[in-house]
Amino acid sequence: MKQFKTESKRILDLMINSIYTNKEIFLRELISNASDAIDKLKFISLTDTTVKSDFNIKITLDKQNKLIILEDNGIGMTDKDLEKNLGTIAESGTLAFKKENEGKENELIGQFGVGFYSAFMVADKIEVLTKAYNSDIAYEWVSSGVDGYDIKESKKEGLGTKITLHLKDDCEDFKYSDFLEEYKISSLIKQYSDYIRYPILMEMTHSKKKEGSPDDKPEYETVKELETLNSMVPLWKKPKSEVNNENLNEFYKNEFHEWLDPLKGVYAKIEGSVTYDTLFFFPSKAPLDYYSKDYKKGLKLYSNGVMIMEKCEELLPDYFGFVRGVVDSSDLSLNISREILQQDRQVKQIATSIEKKISSELKKMLEEDRETYEKLFAEFGLSIKFGVYAGFGMNKDKLKDFLMFYSSKKQKLVTLSEYVKEMPADQNDIYYASGENYESIAKLPQIEKAKEKGVEILFFKDGVDEFVAKVLIEYEGKKFKSVQETDFSLDSEDEKKQLEKQSEEYKDMLNEIKNSLGDKVKEVKLTSNLKTYPVCLISAGDVSIEMEKVFNSMPNADGKMKAEKILEISSTHKILEKLKSLYDSDKERLKKYAVVLYEQARLLEGLPLDDLTEFATALSDII
Ligand code: ADP
Repeated sequence: MKQFKTESKRILDLMINSIYTNKEIFLRELISNASDAIDKLKFISLTDTTVKSDFNIKITLDKQNKLIILEDNGIGMTDKDLEKNLGTIAESGTLAFKKENEGKENELIGQFGVGFYSAFMVADKIEVLTKAYNSDIAYEWVSSGVDGYDIKESKKEGLGTKITLHLKDDCEDFKYSDFLEEYKISSLIKQYSDYIRYPILMEMTHSKKKEGSPDDKPEYETVKELETLNSMVPLWKKPKSEVNNENLNEFYKNEFHEWLDPLKGVYAKIEGSVTYDTLFFFPSKAPLDYYSKDYKKGLKLYSNGVMIMEKCEELLPDYFGFVRGVVDSSDLSLNISREILQQDRQVKQIATSIEKKISSELKKMLEEDRETYEKLFAEFGLSIKFGVYAGFGMNKDKLKDFLMFYSSKKQKLVTLSEYVKEMPADQNDIYYASGENYESIAKLPQIEKAKEKGVEILFFKDGVDEFVAKVLIEYEGKKFKSVQETDFSLDSEDEKKQLEKQSEEYKDMLNEIKNSLGDKVKEVKLTSNLKTYPVCLISAGDVSIEMEKVFNSMPNADGKMKAEKILEISSTHKILEKLKSLYDSDKERLKKYAVVLYEQARLLEGLPLDDLTEFATALSDII
């Protein structure tokens, strides 16, 4: 017996002991797998005429033995496929199974989209008999759950896969035997799988008038007839008036093996220089691997109802890579290959048109359904920000109005347009402050004064935010400006003069501190920007302190990317007098104060200590 991978075991365990309320969903999952398998073989059959094309999915109910049998004549699986597909769950991404996840099965199941394994919610044993295209040998995979599985050679007529579920025994909590009732299965098919494009067949029992029995005294007999349970009309071929939100959600879950409803589904029939139908969706959660290089974007591409590609990347720009959906166009040639596709004019036209449609839907959502948009932005906002930044900002104008940042004043997300609209007439810049998270930004020494003055500040908490601002440069003529680099204290000429005077007075002392810190800082100066804190660091050059952090957190960081820093000392803090007296009496001790203040300023900025030993020694000496 082979063992499941550790992580798969955990998920299996979850499935087997699931109290998931929608156990019936297993049927949708197995049917959509079968439909995918047929899609693949159908595509091959376009060029290989030896493949039989009476494609269908067949369900058999065996009440006596408590079996549900699901057969498809699709592409099948080899022993290697079985090993890879049914021996591992969630191949990509490691699953952090934490205590806190207990009781959140729905969410977990939703995130992993564990298709096939959902059958273990209703079955305690599963057999998969399968024969793959181009293979002479059939294989059988058998598993009774967590213990593991066996694969052995077997015999099978024809290509495809036959899955036998041994239903669990009925118990107080759940009546599994309901799934052996014809009406139950047929209504589930209608509900979840109606638009599967291949016939889903099942023998249905009917009572029928006996042939030859007299009309006035009819006799009835029970007959079994093979029936097609689904309408087979793909959703995008239905008139728009007949498609509601619920249909869209079901379709989404079916087609993309998702468990959670999407945030929104869009159905459009486009006619113009290129004609196509599309159904696309904004998912409610980013896949675990969305922000990794493993993620594959793309829309499912059909030519006249025949699927020709699972994920056609060319149809989506990276920044909208989270969108899922299908495109069906009769303008596409059927035997289009990946190489041809990249240059295909039709595909390019569809891509441009789809992007426009996605943009307009996002705009509409932002204007009419802010709550949903904010949910979307929480999951995929980073993707849009990367889009602004990528390629030296070549797409920034298309994307800038989709950006949102947290506002210090409103205490919620605002768009740039909203920020600019609310700016007082005498404000010329869009102010932002960067840091690790909202709490730490709110505590930054430099923003106290700005907040006191009632200036609205955008909080930049993502590493990419400052890069976005640098690429945008301005929005509606208003430049981006870091609060950390702006002096908000100097209201009047008097105040300015006062600071100049003070700076002159302490000039030698400030120089002394600068010299003792060496290259660590470019300059040491006074500021009237600080309220409670004695010191802060600001950056002098193009690279801000936040950018230094981002650069240095990148995988290949060599630690060489450094912001030029200025150490600012509060012109109103008691520390100033102390420093002055040390300068006059004990320059050695002043050096130690310099170290402690500098390191303190680093910590306030969220930077690590520069030199722990030096800091510790200086601090203990002072104390
Ligand atoms: P998902 O379908 O979400 O990828 P599943 O666990 O449902 O995950 O299935 C894993 C894989 O097993 C599928 O991607 C497919 O390659 C294969 N598979 C499942 N069912 C079938 C089937 N009936 N015929 C052929 N391959 C199948």
